[in-house]
Amino acid sequence: MRNLSGKVALVTGSSKGIGAGIAKRLAADGASVVVNYSRSAEDAELVVQAIAAAGGQAFAVQADLSRPEDIQPLVDAAVQRFGRLDILVNNAGVYQVDSLDSITAESVDMHFNLNVRGLLLVTQAAARVLPPGGVIVNISSGVATSPQPMVHVYSATKGAVDTLTRTLGTALGARRIRVVGIAPGFVATEGNAESAAAMAEHLVGKTPLGRVGQPSDIAAAVSYAVSEDAAWVTGTTLDVAGGLVF
Ligand code: NAD
Repeated sequence: MRNLSGKVALVTGSSKGIGAGIAKRLAADGASVVVNYSRSAEDAELVVQAIAAAGGQAFAVQADLSRPEDIQPLVDAAVQRFGRLDILVNNAGVYQVDSLDSITAESVDMHFNLNVRGLLLVTQAAARVLPPGGVIVNISSGVATSPQPMVHVYSATKGAVDTLTRTLGTALGARRIRVVGIAPGFVATEGNAESAAAMAEHLVGKTPLGRVGQPSDIAAAVSYAVSEDAAWVTGTTLDVAGGLVF
């Protein structure tokens, strides 16, 4: 486990799935963690309890990041509770399959309002309080670089996330704040449980390391990205996918 003691981390969308795994890992590494959730207070509380049971520090804050008005209060709550903010993990994201024919203005807005606009506005608010040495991690996806015709809109949002990782890394470098993207392969979570059952065999077959990813695989990469071991890494996105090209 890495030494993040004294650091404060905000993990968006961390009541379940990959985000919950990241929150638990950063807490185990020694950080105090803000567990953000949109709807599921009970799930968020379970994550907080699991962190506390393991000897860590966490608290949950509700904020729907597709609503711009929810964003500043989330960052304010982190700073008020723990006195500072060192690490932001932009994990919250939505995903829906589509086809060119099925795309609607509403589905475009739903994806972009959270995956891109929400990420950017949380980053803007957090960047105002992050100290030198602060780190922002953007959770992308392998579909950003190998986009799939059954997920046009989602793939486009993650392409935008990778672009923002580069622009933000450039913008914040002078303040010694790093910005690192992590692009997961196929990871089994609550959010994709249905598609996982249908697609696991196909995707595992395309994965050189021969298995579905777990939230802990992504959390380990985030732990590296926010650590001093990654002190020379910024503005780039790391594939964490068992070798899978979607
Ligand atoms: P999930 O659906 O299991 O969890 C998503 C999280 O985001 C949940 O905690 C949810 O509460 C939160 N969330 C949803 N809407 C929100 C909103 N409006 N405001 C705040 N939080 C909100 O998803 P997951 O599979 O754990 O995905 C997490 C991230 O990883 C996403 O950005 C996703 O695009 C990315 N990703 C996942 C996979 C995968 O195979 N699971 C692969 C590549 C990338």
